[in-house]
Amino acid sequence: MVRPICAIINSNALKNNLKIIKKIAYKSKVWAVLKADAYGHGIKNIYSVIKYDSDGFAILTLDEAIILRKNGCIKPILLLEGFFNREELYLIYKYFLTITIHNKWQLNNLIKFKSKYPINIYIKINTGMNRLGFPIKDVIPIINIIKKKINVYNITLMTHFADASKNSSFVKKQINNIKNIINIYHNFSYSFANSAAILWHSYSYYDWIRTGIILYGASPTGVWEDIAKKKIQPVMTLKSKIISIQKIYPGDIIGYNCQYYTNTKNRIGIIACGYADGYPRNINHNKTYVLIKGIKTLILGSISMDMIVVDLNNIPTAKIGSSVELWGENIKIDDIAKSSNTIGYELMCSVSKRVPRILK
Ligand SMILES: *Cc1c(COP(=O)(O)O)cnc(C)c1O
Repeated sequence: MVRPICAIINSNALKNNLKIIKKIAYKSKVWAVLKADAYGHGIKNIYSVIKYDSDGFAILTLDEAIILRKNGCIKPILLLEGFFNREELYLIYKYFLTITIHNKWQLNNLIKFKSKYPINIYIKINTGMNRLGFPIKDVIPIINIIKKKINVYNITLMTHFADASKNSSFVKKQINNIKNIINIYHNFSYSFANSAAILWHSYSYYDWIRTGIILYGASPTGVWEDIAKKKIQPVMTLKSKIISIQKIYPGDIIGYNCQYYTNTKNRIGIIACGYADGYPRNINHNKTYVLIKGIKTLILGSISMDMIVVDLNNIPTAKIGSSVELWGENIKIDDIAKSSNTIGYELMCSVSKRVPRILK
């Protein structure tokens, strides 16, 4: 028997989420963000489902770009942070990748490379997040340098929002910071919006939106209630099975460090999932559930490397081999994230290699 844990990837939910996103920002083209192995879902899985429906694919590393090209992708591929060393430029041209440049080192190396082939360039502007991007005052001179010294096909101006949650006023502020540049370059393309901006800031859409987390069916704020009405569905279901059942009595403990002490008779189930699978260890014990036979039940004791213990008192029909949902359609990943002080993004990306991803 193989260890029963797996991550089911629901292709219908994924397709549906993209459909919803395209409907919301119907005038814009869509970069599906497939970085970090498609947020832990498996880049090939996700690509195979949305290859016809997305206008392009945004990734982080050259390896990911090459995987897509080798899987037949002929659509635009955007390297969200450009290149990290100059040797990559050969492959960037070879595979016709769209490149982001966000600093002077990249600009100078791109100029020095002197390719005779044209390239699509995203110029990343720091409009207030203060992470990547050229300072606003440098943008116009840099555009002029690029036009003069690089064989450039299309220029897109790009920025990233620090806070695009529902009531944020920072999105407008960041766009306003470059309004004069936008007014000058009418024939350029613009790409600003991430998932949160797609949901809550329609004036930020412009030519290309970049959608990550909502494509995968979790909330950009980390709070499921924020997107509960949008009809977006979780794409990943982390599932496993009960591999042991124990009866414990008043005075008994559960697991490492004798952490859980019971004063009642108790039936508990042991599940094949632990922190080595990517389940967070620091959960809030009184608020963290799994789903067994349609019933939500609490996790007890500490999370081990390979196992989780749950309360089975209210699920008398549960037995060895019963299926368990750790997160997915019913147990929202955002809720598990909240109870472990993180966001759905981190949990998705942390599902470890040993958990097979099964595309359904
Ligand atoms: C990861 C990333 C995105 C996607 O963000 P979501 O919040 O997941 O939609 C968009 N733009 C850039 C530059 C990114 O790095």
